[in-house]
Amino acid sequence: MRCPYCSSLDNKVVDSRIGKEGDSIRRRRECLKCEGRFTTYERVEEVLPSVIKKDGRREPYDRMKILNGLKKACEKRPVSVEALEKTVADIEKSLQDKGFKEIPSTVIGEEVMGHLHNLDEVAYVRFASVYRSFKDINEFMAELKDILSSKEMKELKDG
Ligand SMILES: [Zn+2]
Repeated sequence: MRCPYCSSLDNKVVDSRIGKEGDSIRRRRECLKCEGRFTTYERVEEVLPSVIKKDGRREPYDRMKILNGLKKACEKRPVSVEALEKTVADIEKSLQDKGFKEIPSTVIGEEVMGHLHNLDEVAYVRFASVYRSFKDINEFMAELKDILSSKEMKELKDG
């Protein structure tokens, strides 16, 4: 992305939002050279590399898959659609920052879990239980215990 003011190619993303149609990302960028700010619109598929599935097959990055997974995890939880979309944008941003040519699906899963953890503890546990498929029950129970003993969980139960 070339800066419209000084033509420099060095810039950083300061904000990412998903477009109304859900298939584009609106980015606020700041030029590292002249500090000018500008907005770009990118199609999601152009922005993120393809995904390597566990069986080695490749598939195009699919934002809806992540959003639907989050929606499912947050069912009946006090989490707005806006918060979910922001979470997807945050996940995409950190995936991009990792700079993979192809992203292993496990990396996406871990990324989703990390963000879900901040968003809603109950949703996190739901997602983690499905994601890890109880492959490692000890790890899952340890995580569950951590969460149940955390302050946030107490507030959740009390309030
Ligand atoms: Zn510039």
